[in-house]
Amino acid sequence: MSTCNELSQPHQPHVALLPSAGMGHLTPFLRLATKLIHHHCRVTLITTHPTVSLTESQFISRFLSAFPQVTQLQFHLLTLDPSTANSNDPFWLRFEAIRRSAHLLSPLLSSLSPPLHALIYDVSLISSVIPAIESLHISNYILFPSSARMFSLFSHFPNFASKAILGDVLEVIPGLKPIPRSSIPPLLLIPDSLFANIVKEDSPKLPKSNGVLINTFEGLESEALEAFSNRKSVIEGLPPVLAVGPLVPCEFEKGEWDEPLKWLNEQEDGSVVYVSFGSRTAMSRDQLREVGHGLLKSESRFLWVVKDKQVDKEDKEGLDEVVGHEFLEKMKEKGLVVKKWVDQGELLGHRAVGGFVSHCGWNSVIEAAWHGVPILAWPQGGDQKINAEVVEMSGVGLWEKSWGWSGDDDQMVVKGEEIGKRIREMMGKESLRVQAAHIREEARKAFGVGGNCERMFKQLVEEWK
Ligand code: UDP
Ligand code: UDP
Repeated sequence: MSTCNELSQPHQPHVALLPSAGMGHLTPFLRLATKLIHHHCRVTLITTHPTVSLTESQFISRFLSAFPQVTQLQFHLLTLDPSTANSNDPFWLRFEAIRRSAHLLSPLLSSLSPPLHALIYDVSLISSVIPAIESLHISNYILFPSSARMFSLFSHFPNFASKAILGDVLEVIPGLKPIPRSSIPPLLLIPDSLFANIVKEDSPKLPKSNGVLINTFEGLESEALEAFSNRKSVIEGLPPVLAVGPLVPCEFEKGEWDEPLKWLNEQEDGSVVYVSFGSRTAMSRDQLREVGHGLLKSESRFLWVVKDKQVDKEDKEGLDEVVGHEFLEKMKEKGLVVKKWVDQGELLGHRAVGGFVSHCGWNSVIEAAWHGVPILAWPQGGDQKINAEVVEMSGVGLWEKSWGWSGDDDQMVVKGEEIGKRIREMMGKESLRVQAAHIREEARKAFGVGGNCERMFKQLVEEWK
């Protein structure tokens, strides 16, 4: 376990971190915090209570016990009337609650001792956080928890909003492969959705930040990072875009979920396909059943993490009820099916895992790249098709585009036969394994001594001093 118990030093930069809701947003923040601690920063973590999911509060507790030197600052939010927010997604409603409470941040942050050098906050909070901290004269950085390719859309969205609705492809930045309309997060195409409103309001405020940190690296997204390196040609006043990734699984994340690991220990090298759609995607029962059939037809062993509800607190039904008892018994002959939190960062690094059926949440993509595991991309919503484009372009995975968004249309249930076929293709494709291994090396280079990630952190710490 990492223990960095440095006492406060005279030139030790003090950095506060303000994540928003959901594991996809919290995870990169806590991995970033670990990096900052290793670079001798003093870290304050701003948290809201209660967290939307149980997993978030457990993750925060584990982080705080691993790093007792971190200060936790409770941010008490104003009550949000959901009927005023144009969303029924509990995670997005929390983003909005933080946004509407942001004016309370200034007294909270100015009370910190020693005084803060910088605040790093989630991308969903830009336009409310910037005015709230203006009087504090501290540096402010955005952590963008998705791909650099998605950032190209985010940073240009207000200019392109009408084209996105009208045109088939979006030529976002010169030098960057155009983004097809079909890849754009569906909520961005709904003019008054909370998501579209936040992006429209926040994106023009980017020039007011000191930098944008993205959890990515050259070996995975050279095209987009190159485009941003010449940022003056990209967008007027864009601050530096820093590729601080890969932000990888840390010691503090390890839990006591050893059942899948024990099972993997009994399997042959590269023989298992790991299937998970992240922390907040629940598939329909019909689609789950087809995934099960697909796995039986895949000719591979499998480790399948089933999720039935968006928020874990509500995910109470047992596997038997969700998948069906008889079907489950049949599946157990060839694989392991679980319906609980697993330590994905660890599982993907297991020698037995040879492929990953993933929704392409960005953290999942980074974790697969870090471990050199080929991906079968099956985006389900949000930024995931844009991330799947990165997966496909980098050669680390396959993407069957005809599968569409999950829940797009009640008729669109991808059949087991088709799923099994694509899994066989992924598991059998030598070129994917070679490219995934190459990207793993690139990830290790970026992360290691003298790598880009280390250079970025050194640069930031120097600026704050
Ligand atoms: N995760 C995990 N165990 C699970 C489900 C998810 O460790 O059972 C982790 C996963 O490794 C990743 C994060 O939760 O770090 C999910 O973030 P991602 O961006 O992949 O997708 P999201 O959940 O935001 O859709
Ligand atoms: N959980 C978590 N982190 C943990 C332990 C549990 O996020 O360290 C969450 C997990 O997402 C699940 C719920 O808490 O939805 C219950 O977890 P448990 O592993 O106990 O699952 P059970 O076996 O009770 O279904």
